[in-house]
Amino acid sequence: MPEATAQTQATETTGSPDDPARPGGVDPLPGGPDGLVCSARGCRAPARHDLQWNNPKIHAPDRRKHWLACALHRDSLSAFLSARGFLRSVADLPEQ
Ligand SMILES: [Zn+2]
Repeated sequence: MPEATAQTQATETTGSPDDPARPGGVDPLPGGPDGLVCSARGCRAPARHDLQWNNPKIHAPDRRKHWLACALHRDSLSAFLSARGFLRSVADLPEQ
């Protein structure tokens, strides 16, 4: 059915339903009163790396979410995102 196909394509190009107030772009860094700390569960070490990721199923293509990682967790967190195809880039953070 050609009409159904066209309808599906139009729906897919209308953008992300997630968080309409922020359709794209890089999210602000999730800093708190302790500064930038590692995003790994239970880790409170100062973050040294900013893992920027995007889930194409729920985010606009140019949306970037952050995971912060200390030196110890950089590899495990980036591997987690890479395995799902979410990792876009890794930036080093300045020393705090
Ligand atoms: Zn850590």
